[in-house]
Parts: sequence; C-alpha cells; structure tokens
Amino acid sequence: MAIASLSDLAQARRIVVKVGSALLIERGQARAEWLATLVKEIAGLAKDGTQVIVVSSGAIALGAAKLKLPKGGRASLADAQAAASVGQVELARLWSEMLGQHGLTAAQMLVTLDDLEDRRRYLNASATLERLIEAGAIPVINENDSVATEEIRFGDNDRLSARVAQAAQAQGVLLLSDVDGLYDRDPADPDASFIPTVEGVTPEIIAMATGSSGSGLGSGGMLAKLQGARIAERAGIALAIINGTHADPITTALAADRGTLFLPQGDESARKAWLSGRLAPAGVLTVDAGCTEALAHGASLLAAGLTEVEGDFRRGDLVAIFGAKGERLGQGLVEYTAAECRAILGLREEEQAAKLGYSPRAAVVHRDHMVKA
Ligand code: GLU
Repeated sequence: MAIASLSDLAQARRIVVKVGSALLIERGQARAEWLATLVKEIAGLAKDGTQVIVVSSGAIALGAAKLKLPKGGRASLADAQAAASVGQVELARLWSEMLGQHGLTAAQMLVTLDDLEDRRRYLNASATLERLIEAGAIPVINENDSVATEEIRFGDNDRLSARVAQAAQAQGVLLLSDVDGLYDRDPADPDASFIPTVEGVTPEIIAMATGSSGSGLGSGGMLAKLQGARIAERAGIALAIINGTHADPITTALAADRGTLFLPQGDESARKAWLSGRLAPAGVLTVDAGCTEALAHGASLLAAGLTEVEGDFRRGDLVAIFGAKGERLGQGLVEYTAAECRAILGLREEEQAAKLGYSPRAAVVHRDHMVKA
C-alpha cells in the first residue's frame, strides 16, 4: 500500500521503530513505565500483522551511568565505546524482558556502518533480518558502538534506521523523538511553523535543521533525521518523525496526526537506492562543465571530463562526484584505481589506451553504477 498519511503507517506490512536515548533513558535509568506502553503498542501492531523492527539507542547513556563516566559517556570515543559495551547488555535485557511479557522474542543485531556499506555484507544483514522476522522474532538493532571507530560509524541511529529499513524492505520508519517533528526554523522562535508533510528533502528543507540535539543525550539532532529521511525517500520508504514523549507514543501521534511525514520519492531500483544511501565515499572526482551537463542527462562519467581526483581508492570503491563550482552531482562505483584515474584524467578514449597500456573501460563511473545527488 502507498503511505500518504501518518495513520497509514500502522497498516504497513513492515516498519522500523526507532527509539532515541532521550526517550528511553532518564538519569541513567531506563524509563520502564513508558517503555512498557511502547512495547504494548509494538505487540498490538505485530498481532495486527505489521512486522516491527526496533532500532534502540541508549547503550551509551545506560553504560555511562553504570561506569560513572562524565558527559553521558560522550567525552571521548574510548568512553563511548566502553559505555556502549556495558550499556548494550542492559539494553538487550530490557527489550528481551519487556517483549517477553507479550510472548514476543527479542533478537539483538549490532551493526556497523560497513555492514551496510559493503554490498555483500548488506545483503547478508538483509537475509538475517528476513529470517528473524519470518521466524517470528522482533529484531532489536543498535550500532555496534563498542567497536565502531570515528571513520566507520554512523554515530546516530536515525540514518542507521533508514538503512536498516532499506535492508529489510520495510515500508515505513517511525523516528520516536523528543520533538514534534520538523519546524521551518528553531522551534523556540515564536514565528516557527510546523511542517506536517515533506515531499523531497531539498536543500531548503535541510536548511531548516539546526543539527544539534536538544537533550544532549542522543547524537542525532534534526540534521541526522533529515539525512535519514533522504535515504528512506529514495528507497521508496515513508519516514515520520513523531513526538514519543507521551505514554502510548505511536497511537497518540498517529491518532492526532501529529508528526512530520516524509513521503517516498524513489523509483530507484533496490541496488541504486542502496548506492545512494551509502555514506562513506573513498574519494572525490571533480568534472568540467561539459561533463556536468552530460551527467545531468544520464550519461556515464568519462575520463575526458575529469579535472581532479582526490583520495586513494580501488576499483569498485564508492566515489563522490562534484562539478566545477563545487556542487555535489552524485556518487558511484569507480571503474579504476585512484592512480589510473589520475593517469587518464582529461584524456580522450584513444589517448587512454596509450597511457594505460591496455584498452580502457567504457567509463570512469558507469551510469548503471551512479546515482545523482
Ligand atoms: N548507538 C547509540 C547508543 O546506543 C546512540 C546513537 C544515537 O544517539 O542516535 O547509545
């Protein structure tokens, strides 16, 4: 079914429900009473035929309290890793017990950015999710913060949730937050107006976000939520930001139709949607105006239009593509190593063979392996 309003999400076949640290944890303790109302809703959805995947934050906040670490465990990466190790045990126990009270089985999955960036590992995670759901378990997912380092981490569960929804082929994502949704400016400003529906996360929409987390507990903020929405919409998935602070948060928000709904935009194939959701390019290719124009019309990126190559990447790695004015054009999987790209930069096809010593590939980034920004 097509999701056109918030209440449609309750009828979706499969949804991801993301719970932020600020909702789940208060002064280092789980808000068990509130969580009990949410778990009851999840059980209700499951009973009515909606498969639910939970993405739960809170490991760092819980662990920091137990280890008495400063700044909620976020003073350094090492602290966050240690806090997450301790807190994740607690978090898993909490979900397992709570879901168990409704006869549901919790399944823990801890993922890193790389698990979803690498196509083979992504498909593997996708298969695990499918099997778990088929077997009747409720996946409870978090980032594997105890081993994730700065370069290989999401750092927020908002984008992670969108990627998980994609891997699980869910129809919707509910980001339970401590704000009502998106406002056109800082909600503290009396002139701020609420945005109920977004059709496409444009640069104007991004400009509305402040990017800082109000509670100081989570690491998401509005910007990460919008980035998550962008990943979801391109994958054809609806995403909603709702205020989860009340008891029965899902029913309350859906019944009142209160929240910001980002409508699916994508008609990209599953593989292209995966590609556009990838977050960590290994290099940057800059192209001239003629190439920018050609790419806008769906052409492949040819060496002749290449003006600059940054980074050290291998064949098949993800590269970001920029135009001459510094505008981001898209990203794709590169057909050459960085050294080869530098060697053939600006060359026409006949010149490339002489330089490379073998016949060149059809393109530097082929249109089938490229997505626009
Ligand atoms: N994965 C982190 C945790 O469990 C939270 C990330 C976030 O705040 O979005 O504490």
